[in-house]
Amino acid sequence: MTTFHSTFDPATLRQWDKLLGQVAAIAADHHDAVFASSLAAEDMLLLHAIVQAQAPIEVFTLDTGRLPAQTLGLIDTIAERYGVVVKAIKPDPAAVHEHVAQFGEFAFYESVDLRKACCAIRKVEPLRRTLQGHSAWLTGQRRGQSVTRVELAESEFDPVFGLQKYNPLALWTEEQVWAVIRALNIPYNPLHDQHYPSIGCDPCTRAVRPGEDARAGRWWWEQRTSKECGLHAGNLKAIDPQTV
Ligand code: SF4
Repeated sequence: MTTFHSTFDPATLRQWDKLLGQVAAIAADHHDAVFASSLAAEDMLLLHAIVQAQAPIEVFTLDTGRLPAQTLGLIDTIAERYGVVVKAIKPDPAAVHEHVAQFGEFAFYESVDLRKACCAIRKVEPLRRTLQGHSAWLTGQRRGQSVTRVELAESEFDPVFGLQKYNPLALWTEEQVWAVIRALNIPYNPLHDQHYPSIGCDPCTRAVRPGEDARAGRWWWEQRTSKECGLHAGNLKAIDPQTV
């Protein structure tokens, strides 16, 4: 495992040390804690911390069936670099088939409701199924990512899925995330270098333009305040309960 090194910004170094302590404490408090990785830059950093802290936390990703090849490629990269198996959780094929047969392959562009229905089948139900029976989960969310995340807590009870939820990167800045990724040579999705700060399913993600916020490329045809897929539905309550 790479160790931290060099002339590093002291504030970021403190953040990193704190993160190592946080993941170790979460694993000690919850022997069944699981990490839901989107394989984004933040999640790669969090994975590195989990490995470095030797925290026995299982990692999974939601393989919606519409992820970019670059994202899926990280599963093999992680296995090679860290010896960690990322479990790819897939949606119920019958539910996907039924939805596509009824509404078409690209129904998510037609309305927020149809987009949420697709996310519910390909993401929310698989997540609910995976979290069932666990007492805690971790995410790589940050406050700075979106208007839907400005009040994100580092630790909170998740009322949607009924277990403790940890967002240990909540207070990290984008600059700090990338500083650590570069310093520790942490692997990341090559799409990040092509102006994709936030990466989801292929048809629902585009590159962002200068000055746009990090989530602007996700469901870009929708209002900013509706941009959660249901995995973090609790985030929307602070904005408008009707949007959950
Ligand atoms: S992000 Fe798009 S393709 Fe992926 S589950 Fe949601 S609506 Fe469907």
